[in-house]
Amino acid sequence: MTLKNDCFALPPGIHWTPVDDALALLRERLTPVVDTLRMPVAAADTRILAADTSAARANPPAANTAIDGYGFAHDALSPGPQSLPLIAGRAAAGAPFKGSVPPGHALRILTGALVPSGIDTVVMQEDCTRTDDTLSFPALPKPGANTRRAGEDVVAGAPVLPRGHRLRPPDLALLSAVGLAEVEVFRPLRVGVLSTGDELAEPGTTDDPARTFDANRPMLLSLVGRWGCVPVDLGHVGDDRAALRAALDGAGCDAILTSGGASSGDEDHVSALLQDAGSLAAWRIALKPGRPLALGVWQGTPVFGLPGNPVAALICTLIFARPALSLLSGADWTPPLAFTVPAAFQKSKKSGRREYLRARLHDGQAQAFGSEGSGRISGLSWADGLIELSEPAQTVNPGDPVRFLPYAGFGF
Ligand code: AMP
Ligand code: MG
Repeated sequence: MTLKNDCFALPPGIHWTPVDDALALLRERLTPVVDTLRMPVAAADTRILAADTSAARANPPAANTAIDGYGFAHDALSPGPQSLPLIAGRAAAGAPFKGSVPPGHALRILTGALVPSGIDTVVMQEDCTRTDDTLSFPALPKPGANTRRAGEDVVAGAPVLPRGHRLRPPDLALLSAVGLAEVEVFRPLRVGVLSTGDELAEPGTTDDPARTFDANRPMLLSLVGRWGCVPVDLGHVGDDRAALRAALDGAGCDAILTSGGASSGDEDHVSALLQDAGSLAAWRIALKPGRPLALGVWQGTPVFGLPGNPVAALICTLIFARPALSLLSGADWTPPLAFTVPAAFQKSKKSGRREYLRARLHDGQAQAFGSEGSGRISGLSWADGLIELSEPAQTVNPGDPVRFLPYAGFGF
């Protein structure tokens, strides 16, 4: 499935596009670009299901016992204290009792054992006293007590997990329990990460204050890895159109994240190249922090031209690239996890754009990073998440409810 050149085009005539409009457009236009393969369930953590799954058999497959105790037929007994003959033998998990238990008799039965013929109720061993051949307990449990019905969790053939679901460890337990050894999944999206700018240098390689250490590349490569993609380090190119073109041509990726050079200045070569390719959608989003984003399709490969500033690059990646990469990977649309907490800070904002603040939870309240300066990379690292302030003008006072988006909800 290849993307159309204009797949990132925003509605014309809008000066600053609201975040939600841009997201709705991604959601509508992006589809999986990767093929599928079958793999063992045991190895499929973080993979995305490429087909709906259904139970190969029920869970549990037959009625079994939930506790260690003694089983009997409820019908045969009257309420009140009981004293029953115990029959020889027992039922254990994986070692069923072969015979049938006569009415008015009890059998030793252990957790996970199939419920033998003639038994429908189990009394807990802690409630019983026994001799070699007699079992006593003070009160009759409810009919069916301490047993699990066949299929009470999942019936055979029932839908289990749908296409587009990203597998997590408990999902591997569920798929295994219903008898699925293999699943059809999407091949992980290969995501290239390229830094651009003449000023960039590898960390620690120079004393020249005119050089900036490349902070975006390790951050973005790690992020896409955490999102189940295969990170591909495309290195760094200077502000040079030919070098950038060569890097994009040779990327061999399903999607590319670039940082820097995404606006419309003299040295903004990412946007210029995408413009030449006829696919540039210069996104002017009503968002702080964020500058124009350059989205486009380079020879069929989607390119997310992120701002160079690491704070803006991270916010734009979390808000836009994450859901986009998710759809390209075959996964469902997954809005960030958010919850409302009281603010521990004071802040006024103007109307017209959404703002994300670097934030942290402390004693159940959201603290905001002291400086909103978008050059303050230390604030990204100080934070445990973001506070999202919606578009209207507002003043937040301590104790006011605010939306907190934990980093954990973004997978880190
Ligand atoms: P640009 O978007 O290219 O105009 O860059 C905006 C700011 O981000 C400039 O101060 C750049 O030096 C800085 N910058 C660009 N790329 C990176 C990077 N990979 N790591 C750290 N800072 C960067
Ligand atoms: Mg630059």
